[in-house]
Amino acid sequence: MFQNLFKPGLIGAVALKNRLMMPPISTNLAGKDGTVSEDLIFHYAERARGGVGMITVENVCISYPLARHGMAQPRIDDDRFIAGLRRLSDAIHAGGAKAAVELAHPGINADLRFIGGETPIGPSAVTRKDGVVPRVLSGEEIEETIGTYIEAARRSQEAGFDVVEVHACHGLLINQFLSPLTNKRQDEYGGSRENRIRILVEIVKGIKRRLGDDFAVTVRLVAEDMLEGGLTLEDGRWFARHLEEVGVDAMHPDFGLGDKEKRLEPMPYPQAWRVYLAEEIKKAVSIPVVAVGVIREPQIAEEILTAGKADFVALGRTLIADPDWPNKAQTGAERSIRHCIGCNECVVARHVEDVPLRCSVNATVGHTPEESHLEQAAVAKRVLIIGGGPGGMEAARVAALCGHRVILFEGQSRLGGTLIAGSVPPGKEKLNWIPDYYAHELARLGVEVHLGETLDAEQARALNPDHVIIATGSRPAIPRIPGMDEPHVWVAQELLANQMRFTGQAVVIIGGGSVGLETADYLATQGNSVTVLEMLEKVGQGSEPLYLSYLLRQLKEHAVEIVTGAEVQAIQTDAVLAQEKSGEMRTIRADLVVLAAGVKPANDLAHNLSDLHPSIIGDADQPRKIINAIAEGFLAARII
Ligand code: SF4
Repeated sequence: MFQNLFKPGLIGAVALKNRLMMPPISTNLAGKDGTVSEDLIFHYAERARGGVGMITVENVCISYPLARHGMAQPRIDDDRFIAGLRRLSDAIHAGGAKAAVELAHPGINADLRFIGGETPIGPSAVTRKDGVVPRVLSGEEIEETIGTYIEAARRSQEAGFDVVEVHACHGLLINQFLSPLTNKRQDEYGGSRENRIRILVEIVKGIKRRLGDDFAVTVRLVAEDMLEGGLTLEDGRWFARHLEEVGVDAMHPDFGLGDKEKRLEPMPYPQAWRVYLAEEIKKAVSIPVVAVGVIREPQIAEEILTAGKADFVALGRTLIADPDWPNKAQTGAERSIRHCIGCNECVVARHVEDVPLRCSVNATVGHTPEESHLEQAAVAKRVLIIGGGPGGMEAARVAALCGHRVILFEGQSRLGGTLIAGSVPPGKEKLNWIPDYYAHELARLGVEVHLGETLDAEQARALNPDHVIIATGSRPAIPRIPGMDEPHVWVAQELLANQMRFTGQAVVIIGGGSVGLETADYLATQGNSVTVLEMLEKVGQGSEPLYLSYLLRQLKEHAVEIVTGAEVQAIQTDAVLAQEKSGEMRTIRADLVVLAAGVKPANDLAHNLSDLHPSIIGDADQPRKIINAIAEGFLAARII
């Protein structure tokens, strides 16, 4: 079905079985000392077994400590790391993929927590946002740095890797040399494009000289910066052409200096929106070009190749969510693909919390092989699952995989639970992928699904279950406010789930959490004038930072007024009365009032079935995120 995705391809002399690559994504799964750990090997081996053509191992540290760029990042700055890296490349090869290493140096953008009190280095003394002034590399130090990349490439080859990728985008060291915003040098490494690319050219030539022309070198090239006065697509094409001339084997273009949101896109960004970068670079070169960025569905990946926009497709978060994506696409099992929804829990883990990678939709990510393994049950049990939200659906899937007989009851007419309302606001459609996936999988695995049916305790008991899992989710918390029974008052989740539409209304939303803000966006885009009242000092508490900043920008564009520190006193027939943090009372006109004051567990059944010792998971236990519900569904079913 996919004519192009599964055609063999070449990166230099390295033959790939298909056109799919895993780009470097840091995992925080290496040892704290930079050695390759069993968890890191397991992570990549699983993805190799899933059918991808080549895996590029993440953000490897080439010089310690100045190039250290992560809490638990693999190192390649010394020969003592070669043995561990060899085990990693062996595991990738054993899984059927080619293995590449990304050679990275953050330069100016080094994280001060990781570099042992040293000053970050860079091409020029361009002051960082936090006021740190980097130390300027001397000409001699630039020569040494070039040598550092070449030595790291030599170790990669000795460790059995097929390809090295030089990281030259995302605002890291080589990008800093390429960009006039960060390179103010007057010597042969600054000024003209020829001079600014000199360090990268010398690295590439040096690697080829040392390791032979057949050892493939790719460049993660900045196609354009995201800052005013930075590199343009014209620069990107010029660099690409020049790099092809000096022997680079493939280009993997991406953004350079600037906003992280553009390369760690939150959920609303459309699929393949960033592929134009590859398309532009491809105009300048005849070597293979790799496209990357929110490529989720096989059809989209196939279309990129068919349209000639790129020669290979890189699947990053896509393969975090489902390592078997390539095999499933190749065997016609696309509906069994667990799609990445772009929620960025993985980004928060890696970049905000400095903990191992995790994934909302794939409960095994970041866990050991033992924790991920599903054992076949010696005796098949009758498992009753009450609730078809993310936790209940995952529990049903895992219990069925373990060989149990599973019955699932869901009160709504379709699977999804809170995702049904959650997927309605603008840009949240990807949430529908979760129930679509489970609906298909549960049917495939023979789970008996009853939709539109609720159970009381007696009915549940009458089914004689050996094990009960309560996944009944949450219900909206209704604040006690005078006037909340007025006919123009709606609950956000009900309004969204029923896809109610309004135009030209003055709307007040009570509650500025994610549901309140998203409902504001939903109603503002329909042409209403919206005010959000939040009691706390900040809105969107607990939301993923890149998404929150995107959402707040949208709200600003739609002229949504956000009032923090506001305590609602009463709802009147045409207004809401609120006390502002200054103590002043304010009357805000309201044709429509929407309550978005949080949720509370919907777990009455759990109390009534306590004699059956049910597992209580997800929001039914404590309202939290999708990742918690799915992780608890996995765990509850795995240990039955
Ligand atoms: Fe995708 Fe979210 Fe999983 Fe990250 S955590 S891979 S964004 S589904």
